[in-house]
Amino acid sequence: MKDNCFNEFDPNALSVENALDNILKSIKINTTHEVVDIKNAYNRILSKNIKSNLNIPNYKNSAMDGYAVNIKKNNKVNTFKCIGESFAGKPYTSVVKLHEAIKVMTGGLVPNNCNAVVMKELITENNNEITINSNIEINQNIRFPGEDIKKNEIVLLKGKEIDEVDIGILASLGVSKVPVYKKPVIGFLSTGDELVSIEKKLKKTQVYDSNRYLLHGLLSKYPITIKDYGVVKDNKKMIEKKFSLIAKNCDLLITTGGVSVGDADYVKEVLDKLGKVSFWKIAVKPGRPLAYGKIKKCLFFGLPGNPVSVVVTFNLFVSAAIKKIIGQDNSNSLLLTAKLTSDIKKRKGRKEYKRGILSSTCGKFYVKKSGSQGSNILSSLKDANCYIVLDEKIDKLSKGSNVKVMPFTLSSKFYEN
Ligand code: AMP
Ligand code: MG
Repeated sequence: MKDNCFNEFDPNALSVENALDNILKSIKINTTHEVVDIKNAYNRILSKNIKSNLNIPNYKNSAMDGYAVNIKKNNKVNTFKCIGESFAGKPYTSVVKLHEAIKVMTGGLVPNNCNAVVMKELITENNNEITINSNIEINQNIRFPGEDIKKNEIVLLKGKEIDEVDIGILASLGVSKVPVYKKPVIGFLSTGDELVSIEKKLKKTQVYDSNRYLLHGLLSKYPITIKDYGVVKDNKKMIEKKFSLIAKNCDLLITTGGVSVGDADYVKEVLDKLGKVSFWKIAVKPGRPLAYGKIKKCLFFGLPGNPVSVVVTFNLFVSAAIKKIIGQDNSNSLLLTAKLTSDIKKRKGRKEYKRGILSSTCGKFYVKKSGSQGSNILSSLKDANCYIVLDEKIDKLSKGSNVKVMPFTLSSKFYEN
């Protein structure tokens, strides 16, 4: 059989979409709250809607350093008597009559009678009189109460990950204590007789345990408590002992390796014995063997051992599960259409996430593979800035075809040719 005719269809494998659906349906949203100081709220998930108790701005003020004037509609007057000053924090509170002005600084109160601010640079000043050398429009350069945020408006929605702008908004509303979901505990471990810790000298036939560090990095961006449970040998009894212990202390356990059909692969068997296997095969490449289930209340992901598979399955499935566990809104990943700049080979039957380099020229997107696509080749992921997403039915694609592309981030590592 020719390579490009080979079909990887496995009737027992779930589609990516069904696997995700299955995972999300099995998880209950976090409902335990705590209140944290605003300085510790960064990256946490809001557990209640935030409603504004104020208008922002809170008072009518100037957008410029200049002069606030009292004019009529269709004003023809250009000389005004200047009768006072209004600074941010030191307002002018008396009446400003028609064709009078006050000097005003940015953020300074604009008195009720004033209906325009003229910037300083457009004015000539002579004793207490100013002359304005331009047209004046009613309400120009005035910031009105509530034009940014209105009193009683819902400003931030429950489920939002709090970023630096949200912290600025909370502070401008005078909110010093922020309601957030409690952090769940997520543990991970590696399985494999060949694995050695990175502090030790490596013997031939041994492999440094890099997956735990990969996972630590992948987990670090979430508001969770991370627990590293080290390495377990490919020994059924030891795996069993470790899983039952961890399941008592974690909300989610992630393992890597030992989940396939090899003679030393015990993860699925142990999960089946101690808890429940929801599924263990997904029609995806990389990452077909992936055991998902539960041990008592602890959710369980048994990821494959190859590092690229760890990252891809984490991005596709584990991250969606974590978002649900922590109470974060789950938005779909952005998919773009890009033109292939080289041929791509693929076998039918599995949805494939190839590692790619996305670039743009004159507003059009182009993509190519980021190197060798083996699931052990982590360097292809290092150079990539996107996944090239190829559906089950696709076999080969030639240069110039349009493909779906999932960028890793929207801002960084993106190249404009
Ligand atoms: P497995 O899924 O256990 O059959 O492992 C598949 C491949 O991934 C093997 O080549 C393993 O040596 C490698 N591998 C498994 N776990 C790790 C790990 N923690 N760090 C680096 N490589 C690993
Ligand atoms: Mg193994």
